Amino acid sequence: MPYLKKSPWLIHYDGSSCNGCDIEVLACLTPVYDVERFGVVNTGNPKHADLFLLTGAINEQNAPVVRNIYEQMPDPKVVIAVGICATSGGIFRECYNILGGVDKVLPVDVYVSGCAARPEAIIDGVVKALSILEEKRAAMKAARRAARKAPAAAVEGRNP
Ligand code: SF4
Repeated sequence: MPYLKKSPWLIHYDGSSCNGCDIEVLACLTPVYDVERFGVVNTGNPKHADLFLLTGAINEQNAPVVRNIYEQMPDPKVVIAVGICATSGGIFRECYNILGGVDKVLPVDVYVSGCAARPEAIIDGVVKALSILEEKRAAMKAARRAARKAPAAAVEGRNP
């Protein structure tokens, strides 16, 4: 992937789920599917993470936890919702404490379908997330460059 400038680090959180998607995410990290070949490293520290991968639905109790993890991640960051529970609440949607999918609390960039989501689909979602991450990184750089030029332009405008 020529657009990758550095190894992206990923943090995984499992919400209200049957753990089926959770197990498939772990399978991606094994030598069989080996997501590390894309340079992806699984981290437990949100401050080191570029990708936030969530399985399971959002409920009253985990919503603040999910927001807290997201807010600790540095920009730019990409959110991946894996499986139908993370996408819409899935089989838990009608439960009394379920708010719905991840997009009830966070801006989701990539949805991975399936129940359970297959490892190949999860890897495909991660690869899509990497290109979105690179786009966000480029947009941030451009915004920083524009902000640096803006004061100089304002000074020039004052002293023609
Ligand atoms: S999408 Fe299916 S396999 Fe995945 S957590 Fe929900 S019920 Fe389990």
